[in-house]
Amino acid sequence: MTSKSPDSQLMEKIVSLCKRRGFIFQSSEIYGGLNGLWDYGPLGVELKRNLKNYWWQVTVHERDDVIGMDGSILTHPAVLKASGHVEGFSDPMIDCRTCKAHFRADQLVEKKGIKQCPNCGGKDLTAPRQFNLMFETHVGAATDESSIAYLRPETAQSIFVQFKNILEVSRKKLPFGIAQIGKAFRNEINPRNFTFRSREFEQMEIEYFCRAEQGMELLEYWKEERLTFYEKIGIPRTKLHVLTVPDNERAFYSKGTYDIEYDFPFGRQELEGVAYRTDYDLSQHQKASGKSLEYFDEETKQRFVPHVVEPSAGVDRTVLALICEAYSEDQAPDEKGKMETRIVLRFHPRMAPIKCGVFPLLKNNSQLVAKAKEIVSLLRPHMTVFYDESGAIGRRYRRQDEVGTPFGVTVDFETLGEKDAARRDTVTLRDRDSMKQERVAIQDLPAILRDRLA
Ligand SMILES: [Zn+2]
Repeated sequence: MTSKSPDSQLMEKIVSLCKRRGFIFQSSEIYGGLNGLWDYGPLGVELKRNLKNYWWQVTVHERDDVIGMDGSILTHPAVLKASGHVEGFSDPMIDCRTCKAHFRADQLVEKKGIKQCPNCGGKDLTAPRQFNLMFETHVGAATDESSIAYLRPETAQSIFVQFKNILEVSRKKLPFGIAQIGKAFRNEINPRNFTFRSREFEQMEIEYFCRAEQGMELLEYWKEERLTFYEKIGIPRTKLHVLTVPDNERAFYSKGTYDIEYDFPFGRQELEGVAYRTDYDLSQHQKASGKSLEYFDEETKQRFVPHVVEPSAGVDRTVLALICEAYSEDQAPDEKGKMETRIVLRFHPRMAPIKCGVFPLLKNNSQLVAKAKEIVSLLRPHMTVFYDESGAIGRRYRRQDEVGTPFGVTVDFETLGEKDAARRDTVTLRDRDSMKQERVAIQDLPAILRDRLA
């Protein structure tokens, strides 16, 4: 029997909670699942939307210098030939002849200087060969060379290819950015670490175009902007690490790249790359398409291909980081006052899938139920609300704690004004983290909650 490390136990608890409460399910699960693919359940989709919406808000809506786009997933092969993906977007793959498993060369285990299969420990391995990570398909009825298309391996290329159109319609002056959130696909040899390395994933990217002389400065600027973003969604600076990607590991065209990493239970891993890609991509597409992708500066009368700095974040990775960061266990009294372990997702209220739970103290009292439903209607235009009338009130609190709902409102007999007329139309407002309760007027609830959610 092997004993598991506390970190892998923690990861198992998180995976199990994700399934139990409807954050993340394995894709095609009833048919045995498809490796490296995941579906988001009712709470997972809310969390993911909160993340994407907030990113879009601060990146596009709150800035004058960034505009958005949404490109197609199926991509013309010429785009990916020009970008270098058809030729070079591959990982070295090794097969184990004993158990027939495939691995990326860097995933082999080394024991006493001998490379071994991480699956069976076998030593009979093939030489590494290049495996292209792009998914290939055919567009239209013909399935020959001429109809090949690819599922995009990154969202960035659709931005580069539309650069000229967007420049013309937006009439932006350098420096300016184009932002996009969308799906990308990589046929990973060995997907792992839950949703961290998936075959289908979503990216949030900005291509920020500038003059060559601004590139290095903007690289620093965007690194800082992005670190601030993570703090605002509840990932503390102390859990983030900035790795300066060394010269020999950077893409050959990049003049500087930072990886923003997070301490996952399975190790320190990349959430986002911030790369100064120079004028490589636009120049490649200009050359391959024969169309000018130059920018004309009216003041200096110069014509040139802009450089670009790219902050590229993984949506699914960040969702996973939010869940890992939020997961905690503490001790709280049960119905009879006995201490028990409480699972709490301490999401930043901004990210929490449900903002407020609403509970009538008893479900068989029509006045309490009617009042609670009134509160649901009052809050619903402002936030996601969950109504729950079943079970003891303590159990209902626990269920909301476990999915990270920051606030709970309970309608009791005081709300009905039975004991004290002065308390009529007041409720208890419970805070998830402190478990403290306060008495507030129903009419003040929307303002109080909106204030605490911001
Ligand atoms: Zn093996």
